[in-house]
Amino acid sequence: MVMEAVSIIGAGLGGLVLARVLHLHGIAATIYEAEPSPESRTQGGQLDIHEHNGQLALEMAGLTAEFRAIIHEGASATRIVDRHGAVLFHDHEAEHERRPEVLRGDLRRILRESLPEGAIRWGKKLTAVTALGGGKHRLDFADGESVVSQLLVGADGAFSKVRRLLTDVGVVYSGLMFIETYLHDVDAMHPEAAAVVGAGGMFAIEPDHGISAHREANGVIHSYVQLRRPLDWLGTIDFSDPVAAKKQVAADFDGWAPALLELITGGDTPVVARPIYALAAQAGWARRDGVTLIGDAAHLMPPSGEGANLAMLDGAELAMAIVGADGNIEAALAAFEAKMLARAAAEAVEADRIVELCIGAEAPFGMVRFFTEMQAA
Ligand SMILES: Cc1cc2nc3c(=O)[nH]c(=O)nc-3n(C[C@H](O)[C@H](O)[C@H](O)COP(=O)(O)OP(=O)(O)OC[C@H]3O[C@@H](n4cnc5c(N)ncnc54)[C@H](O)[C@@H]3O)c2cc1C
Repeated sequence: MVMEAVSIIGAGLGGLVLARVLHLHGIAATIYEAEPSPESRTQGGQLDIHEHNGQLALEMAGLTAEFRAIIHEGASATRIVDRHGAVLFHDHEAEHERRPEVLRGDLRRILRESLPEGAIRWGKKLTAVTALGGGKHRLDFADGESVVSQLLVGADGAFSKVRRLLTDVGVVYSGLMFIETYLHDVDAMHPEAAAVVGAGGMFAIEPDHGISAHREANGVIHSYVQLRRPLDWLGTIDFSDPVAAKKQVAADFDGWAPALLELITGGDTPVVARPIYALAAQAGWARRDGVTLIGDAAHLMPPSGEGANLAMLDGAELAMAIVGADGNIEAALAAFEAKMLARAAAEAVEADRIVELCIGAEAPFGMVRFFTEMQAA
């Protein structure tokens, strides 16, 4: 059986940054990724990359120039509208330099391309982890292969398999249902929707429901309908009939402007439900030799525009902890985890606050206040 120094589970943004920064410092790592290939999943979604975490991580990865080359210019504009499409708040890219937007697929690509050939092993779904003592772990994959790790990093996302080694705390459904929709070629095909969304992000939000939409590169508008619903609500939507499913989702927005409804019903791709989960408690875990977690595996929280940024910073900082371990890797990992978990606990509180601003009792005015304060800062 192969014995490896650093084995990373998951080629998401956290795992990729970790491998990249280790590589820059001459430490080899292997990433095991369940997806069969880089192209096997659509990598939709634009992410704003923040100066103090995501951009810092990319700088530590030596990829600032590559990052600058994939920025979607103009996409940082933000507006909040009411159900009639009237603008309540508009920020023309004031945040642009601090929070540039990139497509997640582009970001993953520049990270992938920065790794040596063979560093990512695709189609390797981890199915079991067994502690062997002395910090070593046996990793079993769905295709029958097994390896032994000296240091195992769970960068395997929301439903992490590696997390189960460290804690019984699981994920719980947050009560928040996102429904993802896309419009394509919007200037020609959906000009009213393009006008209401504008050049960047748009929030049309009220208590308990709303639509957040983002204009992405290549004339695409990517939207999330946000609803407070029990999980079994999904069973009431006929996803086998995309047109009917869109109408069912849009029924919640009776009386809203046609340009906003177009974001739900006008798309040429089926709607996709994304129930939002979070860790039941951001309680961390007792240290265990030879294994740690980063990103969503360590601190899954509701989306607030930070998760990908945090995962990248975790990856970069873990790499530097390993590089600087100076013969005492366990002490280095303990210090890394303490810092990461304190940061994540604070961000999780902020994430809950942002969800509340989006579809809590004060929507949209809480969100208007939030952006106005951010603009002034
Ligand atoms: C609807 C939605 C919108 C969001 N919007 C934003 C945003 O605008 N900005 C932002 O910063 N964050 C956003 N987030 C959060 C962000 O997507 C995550 O926090 C981020 O992707 C976490 O990165 P990660 O590397 O930890 O995990 P992931 O990106 O989830 O990567 C984990 C990887 O591990 C692989 N994997 C899982 N299990 C196994 C296994 N058993 N064996 C092998 N491989 C495995 C997966 O295939 C995946 O490639 C959003 C999240 C959601 C749900």
